[in-house]
Amino acid sequence: MTIRDFPPDGRTARTRPDACPGTIQVHQAADGPLARVRTPGGILTAPQLRELAGCARDLGSGVIELTSRANVQVRGLRDPAAFAARIAEAGLRPSVTHERVRNIVAAPSVDGALVAELDRSLCARPELAGLPGRFLFALGDTGLAADVASVGGRLLLAGHEVDGVPGTVDGLLAAAAAFLRLRTDEWRVSELADGPARIAAELGGTPGAYRPPRPPERPAGLVEALVPLGRLTPGQALALAGLAGRATGSPGSPGSEVRLSPRRTVLVADRPGAGDALEAAGLVTDPDSPWAGVTACAGRPGCARALADVRADAARWVPRRHTGLPVHWAGCERQCGLPAGRVVRMVATANGYEERHQ
Ligand code: SF4
Repeated sequence: MTIRDFPPDGRTARTRPDACPGTIQVHQAADGPLARVRTPGGILTAPQLRELAGCARDLGSGVIELTSRANVQVRGLRDPAAFAARIAEAGLRPSVTHERVRNIVAAPSVDGALVAELDRSLCARPELAGLPGRFLFALGDTGLAADVASVGGRLLLAGHEVDGVPGTVDGLLAAAAAFLRLRTDEWRVSELADGPARIAAELGGTPGAYRPPRPPERPAGLVEALVPLGRLTPGQALALAGLAGRATGSPGSPGSEVRLSPRRTVLVADRPGAGDALEAAGLVTDPDSPWAGVTACAGRPGCARALADVRADAARWVPRRHTGLPVHWAGCERQCGLPAGRVVRMVATANGYEERHQ
């Protein structure tokens, strides 16, 4: 993405629109077309997981990638139009116009019905189709810095509480609409000069205290498993579908679905044998596993800039891991996807990997 400096205050402005992929507008990666499927709240039903597995196997590289916003993507598509049609048929693209703005993360404790209401209401407002693809809605504590969020009933704008406007679905969407009216070429509320204060004023509220993102709490009744390097095989997706399909509740009720998290984990109902089934599928329930905290960029063959197949190299390295710190593998100096905080970086160079601790 080309950006230029935006003097004098250090903000940035883009020289072209954001190009976040969807299923209709795909990204032309080095290994072929890449489609991203929005999964509001990271929620997937068993039939949707089965269809995603089938699409990845039949039409793509055979892998479902989890993104840092709990969406999914499939690379190397041989027939993007067929993929888009199957995704729509599975109910995973309810809106053509709004597909790339359905970026909604939710804490595991948030009711799926609330996520669905926000999604439906977002898609029902034509003007919100113009939101940038980077704009993020959040419900509950998700650990992410969202543009508009509802936490404990409070409306937050880029982490700033708003007094006088409730954190309801209507409040969230009104804030998003106000951002659209105020923006020029900014993608995020945090990029808009005095964004939280100006949006709050548009809504008739006043800005309150800044509340830094808090990590999500894992509610009782769920078991969480790490997806190594965020890549689900079709077999693993089918295993998850089997666990969700064991639920006795109605579709959308807790336990009848699988939730993806921004930490590239999956959460399923904690029934007898669920943890063993996840482990048997190659997912990781042990928080002390050497896979914990290991991340990687796309690398070869997906990225033309990559100097190495970082995912394969990371997978070979994990069994002999020697540090307890998070480790990020990057195929070049850009270090895409570098997590926040103290992270050991394994950076591919023309002379092999450099291990960097600063
Ligand atoms: S860090 Fe480099 S190799 Fe990895 S995805 Fe980014 S640009 Fe590509």
